[in-house]
Amino acid sequence: MNSEILQTPMMQNVLSLYCVILGLVVGSFLNVVIYRLPRGEMFASSRSHCPHCGHLIRAIENIPVLSFLALRGRCAHCRAPISWRYPSVEALTGFVFFLVWQRYGMTWLTPLYMGFGAALIAAALIDFDHQIIPDEISVGGFFVGLVLMPTAFFLSGHPWRTALEQSVLGALLGGGLLWTVGFVHARLSVAIGRTFEHWPGEGEKIPKPSSADYWLWFPGMGLGDVKLFAMIGAFLGPLDVLEVLIVAAGVGLCFGLLWGFWTRRWVTPLGFGPAIAIGAICVTLRPAAWSLFRFLS
Ligand SMILES: [Zn+2]
Repeated sequence: MNSEILQTPMMQNVLSLYCVILGLVVGSFLNVVIYRLPRGEMFASSRSHCPHCGHLIRAIENIPVLSFLALRGRCAHCRAPISWRYPSVEALTGFVFFLVWQRYGMTWLTPLYMGFGAALIAAALIDFDHQIIPDEISVGGFFVGLVLMPTAFFLSGHPWRTALEQSVLGALLGGGLLWTVGFVHARLSVAIGRTFEHWPGEGEKIPKPSSADYWLWFPGMGLGDVKLFAMIGAFLGPLDVLEVLIVAAGVGLCFGLLWGFWTRRWVTPLGFGPAIAIGAICVTLRPAAWSLFRFLS
């Protein structure tokens, strides 16, 4: 197929639709990942079933979004309500895939950033549910980014070595900055006598500098966020990872304030993960001309 055929409006619409459908299907898979990965059941062979009555979900009941609408949000067998989360994750993934396609078009970055967006959606919701970000996503994604970003640049005829340098720098800067923020925040908190519910854990002492825990263990923001930021840096490079940090801090602050006004409690139970994921997706999708740091390059 030559590129002229791909440029026709008709073909562009077909490809857009294809990207949305791909996103819906991947979103359906993400629902499984979000549920199973933190429970250690990722590779359990059991098929999806209704948590209420155990009814096995048939293929026809598993079509993204459409099945939920057709069943009016209820189990086909026992009519127990199905969470809105499932079709929402599917629709969100379809929307993100559509936007990635609009932003990057027929390039190698499109499939790469679709995978990146999917990983961020899974990380955000697992962090929201369990306040953890699995290493399978953050550390796994970091290595995937480190290998595939240079590969994508090489396949597009750009020097892969520059891309690799950008990925490594981005990961070091992203992970390093977040580690510094977490570490300094923890030490300052200890210095002014502030305590945290889960840190260092009930009846436990603050770790000493001679133990690894002293360096890798801090409250408010876990090591999972540091690893997630290293992954984001590997995919986006050093300048964009700085932008993600700025956007994520803003989003986190807004969430925190909204939560505070809503509940009148100023200790937010939410992890930083969802804000980071929102920031990373926004920076990935924003037009290149909007880059905060473009004056530097
Ligand atoms: Zn049921």
